[in-house]
Amino acid sequence: MSGLGQGTGTRFGAGWISGVPAVTFAALAGGGVLCLLFPSLLTTPDARGHYPLGVVRFLIYAFLVAGFGLGTLSVLLRRAKALGLTALALATVATLLGGSGAAVGDVDGAAGYLGLDWFILNVLVLALLFVPMERLFARLPSQPIFRPGWQTDLAHFAASHLLVQLTVLLTLAPATLFFAWAVRPGLQQAVQSQPLLLQFVEIVVVADLAEYAVHRTFHRVPWLWRFHEIHHSAQVMDWLAASRLHLVDIVVTRGLSFVPLYVLGFSTPAVYAYLVFVSFHAVFIHANVRFRFRPIEWLVVTPRFHHWHHAAAPEAVDRNFAVHLPWIDRAFGTCYFPEGQWPAAYGLAGAPVPDGWVRQLVWPLRARGRRLDVA
Ligand SMILES: [Zn+2]
Ligand SMILES: [Zn+2]
Repeated sequence: MSGLGQGTGTRFGAGWISGVPAVTFAALAGGGVLCLLFPSLLTTPDARGHYPLGVVRFLIYAFLVAGFGLGTLSVLLRRAKALGLTALALATVATLLGGSGAAVGDVDGAAGYLGLDWFILNVLVLALLFVPMERLFARLPSQPIFRPGWQTDLAHFAASHLLVQLTVLLTLAPATLFFAWAVRPGLQQAVQSQPLLLQFVEIVVVADLAEYAVHRTFHRVPWLWRFHEIHHSAQVMDWLAASRLHLVDIVVTRGLSFVPLYVLGFSTPAVYAYLVFVSFHAVFIHANVRFRFRPIEWLVVTPRFHHWHHAAAPEAVDRNFAVHLPWIDRAFGTCYFPEGQWPAAYGLAGAPVPDGWVRQLVWPLRARGRRLDVA
Protein backbone atom coordinates (compact mmCIF):
# COMPACT_ATOMS: atom_id res chain seq x y z
CA MET A 1 0.00 0.00 0.00
CA SER A 2 1.29 3.42 -0.86
CA GLY A 3 0.54 6.44 1.26
CA LEU A 4 0.31 10.09 0.31
CA GLY A 5 3.02 11.13 -2.14
CA GLN A 6 4.10 7.55 -2.77
CA GLY A 7 2.06 6.85 -5.89
CA THR A 8 3.53 6.05 -9.29
CA GLY A 9 2.16 4.77 -12.57
CA THR A 10 -1.40 5.30 -13.70
CA ARG A 11 -3.47 3.25 -11.24
CA PHE A 12 -6.08 4.71 -8.90
CA GLY A 13 -4.51 6.62 -6.00
CA ALA A 14 -1.27 7.32 -7.89
CA GLY A 15 -2.22 10.91 -8.73
CA TRP A 16 -2.42 10.18 -12.46
CA ILE A 17 -6.21 10.16 -12.67
CA SER A 18 -6.24 13.58 -10.96
CA GLY A 19 -3.07 14.89 -12.60
CA VAL A 20 -4.01 14.39 -16.25
CA PRO A 21 -7.41 16.13 -16.04
CA ALA A 22 -5.76 18.84 -13.91
CA VAL A 23 -3.28 19.64 -16.70
CA THR A 24 -6.05 19.37 -19.31
CA PHE A 25 -8.40 21.73 -17.47
CA ALA A 26 -5.65 24.22 -16.63
CA ALA A 27 -4.43 24.22 -20.25
CA LEU A 28 -7.96 24.71 -21.58
CA ALA A 29 -8.52 27.59 -19.12
CA GLY A 30 -5.21 29.12 -20.17
CA GLY A 31 -6.13 28.78 -23.84
CA GLY A 32 -9.50 30.40 -23.16
CA VAL A 33 -7.84 33.35 -21.38
CA LEU A 34 -5.44 33.80 -24.32
CA CYS A 35 -8.41 33.81 -26.73
CA LEU A 36 -10.03 36.58 -24.64
CA LEU A 37 -6.82 38.64 -24.53
CA PHE A 38 -5.79 38.22 -28.19
CA PRO A 39 -8.92 37.59 -30.25
CA SER A 40 -7.41 38.92 -33.48
CA LEU A 41 -4.50 36.53 -33.31
CA LEU A 42 -6.08 33.45 -31.74
CA THR A 43 -9.75 33.21 -32.73
CA THR A 44 -11.61 32.41 -35.93
CA PRO A 45 -13.10 35.62 -37.43
CA ASP A 46 -16.41 33.94 -38.39
CA ALA A 47 -16.86 32.55 -34.88
CA ARG A 48 -15.49 35.22 -32.58
CA GLY A 49 -18.60 37.40 -32.60
CA HIS A 50 -20.88 34.49 -31.71
CA TYR A 51 -19.39 33.15 -28.48
CA PRO A 52 -21.63 33.62 -25.40
CA LEU A 53 -19.13 35.52 -23.27
CA GLY A 54 -20.87 34.64 -19.98
CA VAL A 55 -20.59 30.92 -20.69
CA VAL A 56 -16.96 31.25 -21.84
CA ARG A 57 -16.04 33.09 -18.61
CA PHE A 58 -17.90 30.55 -16.47
CA LEU A 59 -16.07 27.64 -18.19
CA ILE A 60 -12.68 29.34 -17.69
CA TYR A 61 -13.55 29.83 -14.01
CA ALA A 62 -14.70 26.22 -13.58
CA PHE A 63 -11.63 24.84 -15.38
CA LEU A 64 -9.31 26.96 -13.23
CA VAL A 65 -10.97 25.68 -10.03
CA ALA A 66 -10.68 22.11 -11.36
CA GLY A 67 -7.06 22.69 -12.43
CA PHE A 68 -6.05 24.02 -9.00
CA GLY A 69 -8.03 21.41 -7.06
CA LEU A 70 -7.02 18.33 -9.03
CA GLY A 71 -3.46 19.63 -9.44
CA THR A 72 -3.10 19.93 -5.66
CA LEU A 73 -4.56 16.43 -5.23
CA SER A 74 -2.08 15.02 -7.74
CA VAL A 75 0.88 16.72 -6.03
CA LEU A 76 -0.23 15.16 -2.73
CA LEU A 77 -0.80 11.67 -4.15
CA ARG A 78 1.97 11.32 -6.68
CA ARG A 79 5.65 10.77 -6.01
CA ALA A 80 6.61 12.38 -9.31
CA LYS A 81 5.25 15.91 -8.95
CA ALA A 82 5.66 17.09 -12.55
CA LEU A 83 2.06 16.48 -13.56
CA GLY A 84 0.47 18.25 -10.60
CA LEU A 85 2.99 21.10 -10.61
CA THR A 86 2.47 21.65 -14.35
CA ALA A 87 -1.27 21.96 -13.74
CA LEU A 88 -0.74 24.40 -10.86
CA ALA A 89 1.75 26.46 -12.90
CA LEU A 90 -0.61 26.65 -15.90
CA ALA A 91 -3.57 27.58 -13.70
CA THR A 92 -1.49 30.23 -11.90
CA VAL A 93 -0.33 31.81 -15.17
CA ALA A 94 -3.92 31.78 -16.50
CA THR A 95 -5.10 33.46 -13.30
CA LEU A 96 -2.32 36.09 -13.40
CA LEU A 97 -3.31 36.87 -17.00
CA GLY A 98 -6.76 37.79 -15.73
CA GLY A 99 -8.48 34.41 -15.41
CA SER A 100 -12.20 34.37 -16.12
CA GLY A 101 -12.27 38.17 -15.75
CA ALA A 102 -9.66 38.85 -18.46
CA ALA A 103 -10.55 41.86 -20.59
CA VAL A 104 -11.42 41.14 -24.20
CA GLY A 105 -8.62 42.43 -26.42
CA ASP A 106 -9.01 44.59 -29.51
CA VAL A 107 -9.91 43.12 -32.86
CA ASP A 108 -7.56 44.85 -35.27
CA GLY A 109 -8.40 43.08 -38.48
CA ALA A 110 -5.03 41.36 -38.80
CA ALA A 111 -4.81 39.09 -41.85
CA GLY A 112 -3.47 35.98 -40.14
CA TYR A 113 -4.80 34.09 -37.14
CA LEU A 114 -4.51 30.74 -35.36
CA GLY A 115 -7.72 28.85 -34.62
CA LEU A 116 -7.04 28.35 -30.90
CA ASP A 117 -10.78 28.76 -30.22
CA TRP A 118 -11.53 26.15 -32.91
CA PHE A 119 -9.04 23.73 -31.34
CA ILE A 120 -10.40 24.19 -27.78
CA LEU A 121 -14.01 23.84 -28.95
CA ASN A 122 -13.31 20.66 -30.89
CA VAL A 123 -11.21 19.05 -28.16
CA LEU A 124 -13.97 19.75 -25.63
CA VAL A 125 -16.87 18.50 -27.76
CA LEU A 126 -15.12 15.43 -29.18
CA ALA A 127 -13.52 14.38 -25.87
CA LEU A 128 -16.83 14.81 -24.01
CA LEU A 129 -18.55 12.66 -26.63
CA PHE A 130 -15.98 9.99 -27.39
CA VAL A 131 -14.09 9.40 -24.13
CA PRO A 132 -17.24 8.24 -22.25
CA MET A 133 -18.43 6.35 -25.35
CA GLU A 134 -15.14 4.46 -25.59
CA ARG A 135 -15.20 3.73 -21.85
CA LEU A 136 -18.78 2.41 -21.92
CA PHE A 137 -18.78 0.55 -25.25
CA ALA A 138 -15.11 -0.29 -25.78
CA ARG A 139 -14.17 -2.90 -28.34
CA LEU A 140 -10.85 -3.29 -26.49
CA PRO A 141 -11.73 -2.40 -22.86
CA SER A 142 -8.11 -2.73 -21.69
CA GLN A 143 -6.93 -0.02 -24.09
CA PRO A 144 -6.29 3.14 -22.02
CA ILE A 145 -7.26 6.68 -23.06
CA PHE A 146 -3.60 7.69 -22.91
CA ARG A 147 -2.27 4.86 -25.06
CA PRO A 148 1.09 4.93 -26.86
CA GLY A 149 1.30 7.72 -29.42
CA TRP A 150 -1.47 9.88 -27.96
CA GLN A 151 0.81 12.92 -27.75
CA THR A 152 1.61 12.65 -31.46
CA ASP A 153 -2.07 12.39 -32.36
CA LEU A 154 -3.02 15.30 -30.09
CA ALA A 155 -0.30 17.37 -31.79
CA HIS A 156 -1.81 16.48 -35.20
CA PHE A 157 -5.23 17.46 -33.84
CA ALA A 158 -3.86 20.78 -32.52
CA ALA A 159 -1.96 21.61 -35.72
CA SER A 160 -4.85 20.96 -38.09
CA HIS A 161 -7.19 23.09 -35.96
CA LEU A 162 -4.75 25.93 -35.19
CA LEU A 163 -3.96 26.16 -38.91
CA VAL A 164 -7.65 26.21 -39.88
CA GLN A 165 -7.17 29.43 -41.87
CA LEU A 166 -4.55 27.76 -44.07
CA THR A 167 -6.35 24.43 -44.45
CA VAL A 168 -9.67 26.07 -45.40
CA LEU A 169 -7.93 28.32 -47.92
CA LEU A 170 -6.08 25.41 -49.50
CA THR A 171 -9.22 23.23 -49.45
CA LEU A 172 -11.15 25.81 -51.48
CA ALA A 173 -8.23 26.57 -53.83
CA PRO A 174 -8.35 23.64 -56.32
CA ALA A 175 -12.06 24.15 -57.01
CA THR A 176 -12.10 27.94 -57.26
CA LEU A 177 -8.78 28.28 -59.12
CA PHE A 178 -9.10 25.46 -61.64
CA PHE A 179 -12.78 24.54 -62.00
CA ALA A 180 -14.63 27.87 -62.23
CA TRP A 181 -14.99 27.13 -65.97
CA ALA A 182 -17.08 24.05 -65.22
CA VAL A 183 -19.78 25.94 -63.30
CA ARG A 184 -23.17 25.97 -65.10
CA PRO A 185 -25.71 28.32 -63.42
CA GLY A 186 -28.65 26.31 -64.79
CA LEU A 187 -27.33 23.08 -63.31
CA GLN A 188 -26.57 24.75 -59.97
CA GLN A 189 -30.10 26.17 -59.78
CA ALA A 190 -31.54 22.72 -60.42
CA VAL A 191 -29.31 21.20 -57.73
CA GLN A 192 -30.21 23.91 -55.19
CA SER A 193 -33.94 23.62 -55.86
CA GLN A 194 -33.97 20.07 -54.44
CA PRO A 195 -34.98 19.38 -50.80
CA LEU A 196 -32.08 19.81 -48.35
CA LEU A 197 -32.16 16.17 -47.23
CA LEU A 198 -31.84 14.98 -50.82
CA GLN A 199 -28.95 17.39 -51.41
CA PHE A 200 -27.28 16.09 -48.24
CA VAL A 201 -27.52 12.47 -49.44
CA GLU A 202 -26.21 13.48 -52.87
CA ILE A 203 -23.27 15.30 -51.27
CA VAL A 204 -22.37 12.19 -49.25
CA VAL A 205 -22.40 10.07 -52.44
CA VAL A 206 -20.58 12.57 -54.67
CA ALA A 207 -17.99 13.48 -52.02
CA ASP A 208 -17.31 9.84 -51.18
CA LEU A 209 -16.85 8.86 -54.82
CA ALA A 210 -14.22 11.62 -55.02
CA GLU A 211 -12.71 10.62 -51.66
CA TYR A 212 -12.54 7.01 -52.83
CA ALA A 213 -10.59 8.00 -55.96
CA VAL A 214 -8.24 10.33 -54.07
CA HIS A 215 -7.72 7.86 -51.22
CA ARG A 216 -6.97 4.98 -53.60
CA THR A 217 -4.50 7.19 -55.48
CA PHE A 218 -2.76 8.02 -52.18
CA HIS A 219 -2.30 4.28 -51.66
CA ARG A 220 -1.23 3.57 -55.26
CA VAL A 221 1.29 6.36 -56.04
CA PRO A 222 4.52 5.87 -54.04
CA TRP A 223 5.35 9.52 -53.36
CA LEU A 224 1.74 10.25 -52.31
CA TRP A 225 1.72 7.13 -50.11
CA ARG A 226 4.58 8.68 -48.12
CA PHE A 227 2.11 11.35 -46.95
CA HIS A 228 -0.81 9.00 -46.35
CA GLU A 229 1.47 6.47 -44.64
CA ILE A 230 1.39 8.75 -41.59
CA HIS A 231 -2.32 8.00 -41.12
CA HIS A 232 -1.65 4.26 -41.37
CA SER A 233 1.20 4.37 -38.86
CA ALA A 234 -1.38 4.35 -36.03
CA GLN A 235 -1.07 1.05 -34.16
CA VAL A 236 -4.02 1.81 -31.92
CA MET A 237 -7.53 2.73 -33.04
CA ASP A 238 -9.49 5.31 -31.12
CA TRP A 239 -11.14 8.69 -31.70
CA LEU A 240 -7.85 10.56 -31.44
CA ALA A 241 -6.13 8.32 -34.03
CA ALA A 242 -8.45 9.89 -36.63
CA SER A 243 -6.36 13.08 -36.33
CA ARG A 244 -3.11 11.41 -37.38
CA LEU A 245 -3.03 12.90 -40.86
CA HIS A 246 -0.25 14.72 -42.69
CA LEU A 247 -1.28 18.30 -43.56
CA VAL A 248 -0.69 17.55 -47.27
CA ASP A 249 -3.02 14.53 -47.00
CA ILE A 250 -5.68 16.76 -45.37
CA VAL A 251 -5.65 19.58 -47.90
CA VAL A 252 -5.30 17.38 -51.01
CA THR A 253 -8.11 15.01 -49.98
CA ARG A 254 -10.45 17.79 -48.84
CA GLY A 255 -9.56 20.05 -51.76
CA LEU A 256 -10.20 17.44 -54.46
CA SER A 257 -13.36 16.10 -52.75
CA PHE A 258 -14.71 19.64 -52.69
CA VAL A 259 -14.36 20.08 -56.46
CA PRO A 260 -17.57 18.20 -57.47
CA LEU A 261 -19.54 19.87 -54.64
CA TYR A 262 -18.38 23.27 -55.91
CA VAL A 263 -19.16 22.53 -59.55
CA LEU A 264 -22.61 21.11 -58.76
CA GLY A 265 -23.29 24.10 -56.50
CA PHE A 266 -25.08 22.48 -53.56
CA SER A 267 -26.76 24.98 -51.25
CA THR A 268 -24.77 26.27 -48.28
CA PRO A 269 -26.96 24.70 -45.51
CA ALA A 270 -26.62 21.27 -47.18
CA VAL A 271 -22.83 21.64 -47.41
CA TYR A 272 -22.65 22.74 -43.76
CA ALA A 273 -24.79 19.79 -42.70
CA TYR A 274 -22.34 17.52 -44.52
CA LEU A 275 -19.35 19.21 -42.82
CA VAL A 276 -20.90 18.60 -39.39
CA PHE A 277 -21.68 14.98 -40.35
CA VAL A 278 -18.20 14.31 -41.72
CA SER A 279 -16.44 15.85 -38.74
CA PHE A 280 -18.21 13.40 -36.40
CA HIS A 281 -18.38 10.40 -38.72
CA ALA A 282 -14.67 10.54 -39.65
CA VAL A 283 -13.77 10.48 -35.95
CA PHE A 284 -16.37 7.84 -35.06
CA ILE A 285 -15.15 5.26 -37.60
CA HIS A 286 -11.73 5.23 -35.87
CA ALA A 287 -13.17 4.99 -32.35
CA ASN A 288 -12.51 2.07 -30.03
CA VAL A 289 -16.19 1.10 -29.91
CA ARG A 290 -17.82 -2.26 -30.47
CA PHE A 291 -21.05 -1.07 -32.18
CA ARG A 292 -21.67 -3.06 -35.33
CA PHE A 293 -24.88 -1.52 -36.78
CA ARG A 294 -25.48 -4.88 -38.40
CA PRO A 295 -28.53 -3.88 -40.51
CA ILE A 296 -26.71 -0.98 -42.17
CA GLU A 297 -23.05 -1.98 -42.07
CA TRP A 298 -23.08 -2.61 -45.83
CA LEU A 299 -24.74 0.75 -46.44
CA VAL A 300 -22.77 3.21 -44.30
CA VAL A 301 -19.15 2.93 -43.14
CA THR A 302 -18.98 1.75 -39.51
CA PRO A 303 -15.97 1.55 -37.16
CA ARG A 304 -15.50 -2.16 -38.02
CA PHE A 305 -15.27 -1.38 -41.76
CA HIS A 306 -12.70 1.39 -41.37
CA HIS A 307 -10.76 -0.54 -38.71
CA TRP A 308 -10.13 -3.14 -41.45
CA HIS A 309 -8.68 -0.33 -43.59
CA HIS A 310 -6.09 0.13 -40.82
CA ALA A 311 -5.54 -3.59 -40.25
CA ALA A 312 -1.99 -4.97 -40.31
CA ALA A 313 -3.16 -8.27 -41.89
CA PRO A 314 -1.81 -8.64 -45.48
CA GLU A 315 -5.24 -9.59 -46.87
CA ALA A 316 -6.66 -6.24 -45.68
CA VAL A 317 -3.94 -4.02 -47.16
CA ASP A 318 -5.22 -1.57 -49.82
CA ARG A 319 -8.86 -2.37 -49.06
CA ASN A 320 -11.86 -0.33 -47.85
CA PHE A 321 -10.99 3.10 -49.27
CA ALA A 322 -14.52 4.54 -48.95
CA VAL A 323 -14.99 6.90 -46.03
CA HIS A 324 -18.81 6.93 -45.93
CA LEU A 325 -20.24 4.27 -48.26
CA PRO A 326 -18.83 0.72 -48.20
CA TRP A 327 -20.71 -0.31 -51.37
CA ILE A 328 -18.33 1.88 -53.38
CA ASP A 329 -15.55 -0.54 -52.40
CA ARG A 330 -17.83 -3.45 -53.28
CA ALA A 331 -18.55 -1.94 -56.69
CA PHE A 332 -14.85 -1.46 -57.46
CA GLY A 333 -13.69 -4.77 -55.99
CA THR A 334 -11.63 -3.33 -53.14
CA CYS A 335 -13.71 -4.49 -50.18
CA TYR A 336 -12.45 -6.64 -47.30
CA PHE A 337 -15.05 -7.09 -44.59
CA PRO A 338 -15.07 -10.58 -43.00
CA GLU A 339 -18.39 -11.20 -41.28
CA GLY A 340 -18.40 -10.22 -37.63
CA GLN A 341 -14.60 -10.08 -37.26
CA TRP A 342 -12.29 -7.31 -36.09
CA PRO A 343 -8.60 -6.91 -37.01
CA ALA A 344 -6.11 -8.51 -34.63
CA ALA A 345 -3.58 -5.68 -35.10
CA TYR A 346 -3.30 -2.27 -36.74
CA GLY A 347 -0.56 -0.32 -38.48
CA LEU A 348 2.21 -0.88 -41.01
CA ALA A 349 4.48 -3.90 -41.32
CA GLY A 350 7.77 -3.06 -39.62
CA ALA A 351 6.36 0.19 -38.15
CA PRO A 352 8.57 2.36 -40.41
CA VAL A 353 7.11 5.77 -39.46
CA PRO A 354 8.67 7.48 -36.40
CA ASP A 355 6.57 8.86 -33.56
CA GLY A 356 6.26 12.63 -33.01
CA TRP A 357 4.47 15.34 -34.99
CA VAL A 358 7.54 17.12 -36.44
CA ARG A 359 9.19 13.85 -37.44
CA GLN A 360 5.98 12.75 -39.17
CA LEU A 361 5.63 16.14 -40.89
CA VAL A 362 9.07 15.81 -42.53
CA TRP A 363 8.86 12.02 -42.95
CA PRO A 364 7.46 11.98 -46.53
CA LEU A 365 10.24 14.27 -47.78
CA ARG A 366 13.04 12.47 -45.96
CA ALA A 367 11.76 9.03 -46.90
CA ARG A 368 11.65 10.01 -50.57
CA GLY A 369 15.20 11.36 -50.35
CA ARG A 370 16.40 8.08 -48.92
CA ARG A 371 14.72 6.17 -51.73
CA LEU A 372 16.46 8.40 -54.29
CA ASP A 373 19.80 7.85 -52.57
CA VAL A 374 19.34 4.11 -52.84
CA ALA A 375 18.37 4.43 -56.49
ZN1 LIG B 1 -5.72 4.80 -46.31
ZN1 LIG C 1 -8.43 6.10 -40.97
